[in-house]
Amino acid sequence: MPKAKKKSVKKTVKKAANKSAKSAATKKAIKTSKVRAGAKKSGEIGGEILLQPPRGMRDLLPGEQSYWSQIRRVLSRMALEYGFGRIDTPAVEYANLFIRSIGSGTDIVDKEMYLFSSRGGGDKLALRPEFTASIARAYLQHGMNVLAKPVKLFSTGPVYRYDRPQEGRYREHFQANFDIFGEQDPILDAQLIQLAHRVMASLGIKNIQFQVNSIGCPKCRKEYQDLLVAYFESKKQKLCQNCKKRLETNPLRILDCKEDKCIQVASAAPQSIDRLCPECRVHFKNLLEYLDELDLPYMINPKLVRGLNYYTKTVFEIWSGDENERKYSLGGGGRYDYLIEELGGEHTPAVGFALGMDRVVQEMKRVHARTHVEPKPQVFLAQLGDLAKKKSLKTFAELQKNGILTAESFGRGSLKSQLRVADKLGVQITLIIGQKEALDGTVIVKDMVSGTQETVGMDKLVLSVKKILKNNVIVSRNGE
Ligand code: AMP
Repeated sequence: MPKAKKKSVKKTVKKAANKSAKSAATKKAIKTSKVRAGAKKSGEIGGEILLQPPRGMRDLLPGEQSYWSQIRRVLSRMALEYGFGRIDTPAVEYANLFIRSIGSGTDIVDKEMYLFSSRGGGDKLALRPEFTASIARAYLQHGMNVLAKPVKLFSTGPVYRYDRPQEGRYREHFQANFDIFGEQDPILDAQLIQLAHRVMASLGIKNIQFQVNSIGCPKCRKEYQDLLVAYFESKKQKLCQNCKKRLETNPLRILDCKEDKCIQVASAAPQSIDRLCPECRVHFKNLLEYLDELDLPYMINPKLVRGLNYYTKTVFEIWSGDENERKYSLGGGGRYDYLIEELGGEHTPAVGFALGMDRVVQEMKRVHARTHVEPKPQVFLAQLGDLAKKKSLKTFAELQKNGILTAESFGRGSLKSQLRVADKLGVQITLIIGQKEALDGTVIVKDMVSGTQETVGMDKLVLSVKKILKNNVIVSRNGE
């Protein structure tokens, strides 16, 4: 980078770092750096560095991580309870995988995929816009069909969709994905819905609505789709431009168009549950019986179709349910009994669902849900002098290895300023290693609760700290 440019970037970085992230000054600094970009646009190689991630993407700062750890903990526990094994697949796949499985004519494939070519130019790649296609690919590639059925796989990670960003809609968002391969019994559909309910309840999100529907198998869906097309053809002039196109590419999607005029036309459209073949009808009836038996509230939404072509039979969505707030879809899923076959495997019925973690966090914040708070250090290690400083790293690691969460401020030279940090943290014990202690192999242990202090040998340090911490717990329990 030329020197002058380097300087200006440095200046901008420094400027932004000195102010709070959201201050007007920072915004100005960011804007200034945009203006400075001059000839080359931001985002272009050689253009100025913008101090922000690409549009629709964001940092998850330490301040909100307690929500994310809470979700991750609940999800991992549920995955364990329900017998799901963790799987991680790359965020990048060959684009064809998504195009073939999700299907052209869907919004995801036609408008929202991040597509690019590898450097050699040969491979057409895509950032994953959802998980199921990748999980199905991995299932086939690693011969999981020989495993005892059902094969249950769980994954979490970022997914990418090039959509217009707005509140609750990001171009990079995070999903948790549960997939079950190898069983067609609707009890598994019900079990997944039960799992989703329990995740929500464990996170303190009570006000939710479950919507279910059946869109049939390829056989009965074909007949239903013909009927639907005939109906919409007769009302074509009343449909929005998008839905006029959908009539050719993906007529089922007209049912969940958000345009008022299309909602009106769709309200009298034929419904898939009235056209199910006997097998699909029994499957759906059994699913509803399982849900009733579980006492899980749900509503049948005959217009629920989901936006991906691979779904068959059951489809469901979870919605935030507060009457006075804007409603968000928190998750969704369904059966995809033919996906594995379409990708070249043997017939393998499957069912799965994805939870939108960003939206769940948003909902947790709204209802002031309990979050996971990491334990705070109760011990502070201070050091004074060169030799003490050298010893401090080893002592710090020894304390941590023994389960004693310890804070420090090793970069500070003065004892006074280190103790100020200890004070701010409100620790129960402060440990001090000075020049004399470093030479003697001892540590000053100061109990901040009782105000007493003693000097102990390095080999007794862990024992001494644990004793004080235990004693302080007993004292506080007795309310003294
Ligand atoms: P979908 O398969 O599209 O229904 O996505 C599953 C879940 O991911 C949805 O129910 C949302 O909670 C969440 N989700 C989908 N797209 C986005 C997005 N662009 N930003 C944030 N969350 C999303």
